[in-house]
Amino acid sequence: MSVFDAGLEDRLRAVHDRIVAACERAGRASESVRLLAVSKRHSVDAIRVAYALGQREFGENYVKELGQKADALRDLPDLKLHLIGRLQSNKVKDVVRLGCAVDTVDTLSLAQALDTRAKSEGRAIDVLVQVNIGEEPQKAGAVPSDVPQLMAAMRVLSALRVGGLLAIPPAVDDPEQSRSHFRRMRALAQACGVRELSMGMSDDLEVAIEEGATVVRVGTAIFGPRPT
Ligand SMILES: *Cc1c(COP(=O)(O)O)cnc(C)c1O
Repeated sequence: MSVFDAGLEDRLRAVHDRIVAACERAGRASESVRLLAVSKRHSVDAIRVAYALGQREFGENYVKELGQKADALRDLPDLKLHLIGRLQSNKVKDVVRLGCAVDTVDTLSLAQALDTRAKSEGRAIDVLVQVNIGEEPQKAGAVPSDVPQLMAAMRVLSALRVGGLLAIPPAVDDPEQSRSHFRRMRALAQACGVRELSMGMSDDLEVAIEEGATVVRVGTAIFGPRPT
């Protein structure tokens, strides 16, 4: 595949336009929101196309896929990969070796394992704390009431740069239904004294930006439907 994909170019531009429009409505500077392109199950070539169009941050859900893509894309300067899926403790050393950001830290033991491993490799790792904002039993993330204490306990972990919080609110039909969750996330970030708020996806990025998202994680709207 050549580094030309008119569909992807149009879709990426459309997502940028949506971000700018939402920022305008919310009275925010458009630079206050970063786009994380969620490339899970999409090809390395698709990532290269997005990269050629200026996209630098990409999110993946599985450590194995993340590692394969990181290896295949080593030649791209300032590519920043994020793990946005669950991290099992036996994969900690793999993500630390890759040097990618981990946006889904949700327990102190996982944070400690990352910190210990990062120190042993002389690295610092960017992390976010994942919050189970809808308190859904099947979902990963710390429950909101535990977050301030978890964040406080993580402050001594000097190899972790804790930027803020990530949330995936419960699935809904109408993005408006997520607004109250996003609003509570912002209050939680303020209470914890952190800035970064990763929230909002293809269907609800506008509401998330209106409520204070600093990162939106967008897959389908950029890359199209995920191959199965
Ligand atoms: C897949 C995924 C996304 C992107 O979802 P889209 O609806 O395709 O934009 C965002 N965040 C997380 C954590 C994901 O797993």
